[in-house]
Amino acid sequence: MPLLSIQNLQVKYRVKNKEIHAVNNISFDVEQQDSVGIVGESGSGKSTLAMALLRLLPERIAEVSGEVLFAGENLLTLDDARLKARRWTEMAVVFQKSMSALSPVHKIGYQMADIYKVHVKTATKEQAKARILELLEMVNLPARVYTMYPHELSGGMMQRVSIALSLMHNPKLLILDEATTALDVVTQGQILKEIMQLEERLNIARIMITHDMSVVATTCKKVAVMYAGNLLEFGLVKDIIAAPEHPYTKGLLQSIPALKGERGELIGIAGYLPDLSKSPSGCIFADRCPSRKPTCETETPIRRTLADGRMVACHIAGS
Ligand code: ATP
Ligand code: MG
Repeated sequence: MPLLSIQNLQVKYRVKNKEIHAVNNISFDVEQQDSVGIVGESGSGKSTLAMALLRLLPERIAEVSGEVLFAGENLLTLDDARLKARRWTEMAVVFQKSMSALSPVHKIGYQMADIYKVHVKTATKEQAKARILELLEMVNLPARVYTMYPHELSGGMMQRVSIALSLMHNPKLLILDEATTALDVVTQGQILKEIMQLEERLNIARIMITHDMSVVATTCKKVAVMYAGNLLEFGLVKDIIAAPEHPYTKGLLQSIPALKGERGELIGIAGYLPDLSKSPSGCIFADRCPSRKPTCETETPIRRTLADGRMVACHIAGS
């Protein structure tokens, strides 16, 4: 059984009298100790997907359907109490600005201990402190961070604290949403390397959302390519980078000068994301696709599995 199985996940935002289809019928699995990179340009629904997995989207603005099976149990239909017990203990997320959730007027250690005690209610002060110090060490932060205030930390240190927080209750799946994007290349590289070592040691799977295809190439086993709320291609990084099938994936890879060199931004495909409040009559990518055929404009491509096991949603892929 996969650790996480996402099946036909759909998220619609209700905005005034419109419905925004931010995530459209997405399915893929994450195995134990897997690492899945999610790439796609801004607005393609990556963060929405991450939030939906953890059920962090307020019901009043977002309608979520489909299934999110974690170790076989559907998180979308769990009652609130059971969901709260599982969030952070099974799956945890780190956002780009996770630290903004911390108060500027209290010391890091004090706040981390507070968060620890939410889940481990019986913990004594000493037990909480011991766990926090252990976590700080795990993410290569000096113990003195315990008595520091958020404003005293550098960007890299802050993201390390966020990662430490996410690991607090031994999750089996870590979701990083642009968690290292704002850092300089060297710090980002160090933190990613450390995360990969922690994953090995702690047996954690990772979903990594990023604009940076070179980060996916160096740190992930699999890649999910999203466009306008749709999953266009999903498979092993080594297969997809060597031979992308979807014209959008091809465009993404071409827009990176050299995978091993500088960080590559997802630019270079002419055109814009479609209006997500309208349902397209054919392929969502048709109007920007350099290889489109007449059917692409009238028929929605169905997901297909190719010989190497990758999934692709495209009329012309594999031909
Ligand atoms: P980025 O790379 O910029 O972080 P993303 O891939 O994470 O982008 P999302 O933030 O998931 O994209 O947004 C997907 C779509 O949903 C966008 O069209 C966005 O405008 C819309 N959206 C996101 N949050 C909300 C919200 N709270 N209410 C209404 N629409 C939203
Ligand atoms: Mg985002």
